[in-house]
Amino acid sequence: MASPRDYYEILGVDREATQQEVKSAYRKLAVRYHPDRNPGDKMAEESFKEAAEAYAVLSDTEKRARYDRFGHRGVAGGGFSGFDPTVFGDFSDILGDFFGFGFGDMFGRARRSGAGQPGADLRYELHIELEKAAFGAEETLEIPRLERCESCSGSGSAAGTEAETCQGCAGQGQVRFTQGFFTVARTCPQCGGEGRVVTNPCTGCGGEGRVEKRRKIQLKIPAGVDTGTRLRLSGEGEHGRKGGRTGDLYVDIVVEPHERLHRDGSHILSEVELAYPQAVLGAELEVETLHGAESLEVPPGTKDGTRFRIKGKGIEQLNGFGKGDHIAVVRLAVPHPKNLSDEEVELLRELAELGGSEIKEGRRVFDRVKDLFG
Ligand SMILES: [Zn+2]
Ligand SMILES: [Zn+2]
Repeated sequence: MASPRDYYEILGVDREATQQEVKSAYRKLAVRYHPDRNPGDKMAEESFKEAAEAYAVLSDTEKRARYDRFGHRGVAGGGFSGFDPTVFGDFSDILGDFFGFGFGDMFGRARRSGAGQPGADLRYELHIELEKAAFGAEETLEIPRLERCESCSGSGSAAGTEAETCQGCAGQGQVRFTQGFFTVARTCPQCGGEGRVVTNPCTGCGGEGRVEKRRKIQLKIPAGVDTGTRLRLSGEGEHGRKGGRTGDLYVDIVVEPHERLHRDGSHILSEVELAYPQAVLGAELEVETLHGAESLEVPPGTKDGTRFRIKGKGIEQLNGFGKGDHIAVVRLAVPHPKNLSDEEVELLRELAELGGSEIKEGRRVFDRVKDLFG
């Protein structure tokens, strides 16, 4: 096999040629020797491959530096046999705008994949009532997000035009700097890493490829969620740029406090008022729970602060480990005498006397005077 030709010679450029000069030299050769224009021409096909190989090396700052120092041995796969198939990715970019069709398809390869930036994940704080958290619910969310522009299918280019391969990085999306033994790759500042630049922007999106839209989403809230529960909706985030993947939507649940029912994990606590005679003699009370009114039997001699557990009337656990309870906490009602009838006050005096409890009512008179003048 003949030794491979010098890459600069193949492209017809000198060693100091800029990336732009390398690229346009390659374009000319690629168009001249393109197999579509030279059907069955073996020589043309060889020249076409040769030019592609030379371009693959010289358009890559790092490979070019190695080639300059070590020749063909310095670049991986030097020689026709070790032809680097990834160069076809560049073909589609470089020739796409020449021929105006999907060149990548011809080589059985998709166009640059994963070149676009992924869409952002979104976070939405959803405030719900305790009842919805306990039993689950369906909510309609309206999420503003960036979606693929329909007028340009997300390309950012006006109809009939295409983005051009970025000149700053020859479509690589990265620029490389070689310093001694180290090669540093940086995102290309001209195209932001996309490898292509929009020269004729779409009027619908101004070249961004995405537009802001409000999307309605039906969200099923499972029973048992609590403040801090995070629901993930895969693919409901922002669309990516130029084919990048779509982000996710995270819904953070905030359960609003209830006026009378207090949550403690899967249990619900509430206070029930007990009048003194009920506390002494016992009573049957009605307790408000999430599941409706429940009757509670309070035994005679119940003290203030006593807790009664009503099984299974709490909140379902999110992990399916059963239901919590309703806990009723007894509060002994102590009314102010001014809210009592004279008869009630008289009975209390009698009760105190019978029980041997000493009372002092001076304060009550003072309160009444205060009420009259204040
Ligand atoms: Zn557009
Ligand atoms: Zn670039």
